Amino acid sequence: MTRTRFAPSPNGPLHLGHAYAAIVAHDLARERGGTFELRIEDIDGERSRPEFVSEILADLAWLGIGWDGEPVFQSHRLGSYAQAGERLKQMGLLYPCRCTRAEIAAASTRMGPDGPVYPGTCKHRIVDPAGAAWRLDMDAARALAGPLDWVDDIAGIQRAIPEIFGDVVLLRKDLPASYHLAATLDDAADAVTLVTRGLDLFAASHVHRLLQALLGLPVPTWHHHALLVEPDGRKLAKRRGSPSLGDRRRAGEDGIALAAALRGGRLPAGISLSRSLHTGT
Ligand code: GLU
Repeated sequence: MTRTRFAPSPNGPLHLGHAYAAIVAHDLARERGGTFELRIEDIDGERSRPEFVSEILADLAWLGIGWDGEPVFQSHRLGSYAQAGERLKQMGLLYPCRCTRAEIAAASTRMGPDGPVYPGTCKHRIVDPAGAAWRLDMDAARALAGPLDWVDDIAGIQRAIPEIFGDVVLLRKDLPASYHLAATLDDAADAVTLVTRGLDLFAASHVHRLLQALLGLPVPTWHHHALLVEPDGRKLAKRRGSPSLGDRRRAGEDGIALAAALRGGRLPAGISLSRSLHTGT
């Protein structure tokens, strides 16, 4: 049975792009007689706020989007992330790192999907693990897992190339998890069969496929949907002035009609759907 999920981070108000993402995930589950999970990715302690969680629930209700079961909160699952982290440490696949962002930016020689790729500074150093972040030794992980493929139901079969990220952080210094580890573990724990999210996270799936292989997790299918973009091709974002869903809701707009318009491809003036993301600033 198909199970999809919408996994917002409560670190700001949702905008039209989130509404589109929620609708895609919800409708794919409903069309196939499957289930749809709401997962709150609230492990970013510095930026997550409970008031944004209530806003997310209100926004989805306003759009007429119902989820199955109780919402899942990542902050309740830190123990399972830590356990997987221990396992990867015991496999010799993680190493502690205390480099700062500035040090990494200065020493990095290439850009990856998330910015400057880690140059491996701490890999061969003795580093005090107390309060350090833990990075995946990508070469060792790739060698252990061998070649891997994954399937996006729009883009087709993909050869996994997680090495474009370099040695990603799997356990942050303030948290026994990172987005990559938590999202991969949750999709497995919740039996998500179709990981539905925007094309901006397409590359992340290379890392998630590798983690599934290392941890013996089931492999879902992915559905990376088009993104709502501004006339300059950039993703919609609240900070760039698009009204949030909450703004629209409080202004008395009809959420059900808005959801119907998004489903029908009737987008507000100047906004379009794009399968190619312009990531320039
Ligand atoms: N929490 C992520 C976001 O809000 C989505 C992660 C995912 O769908 O895998 O962008």
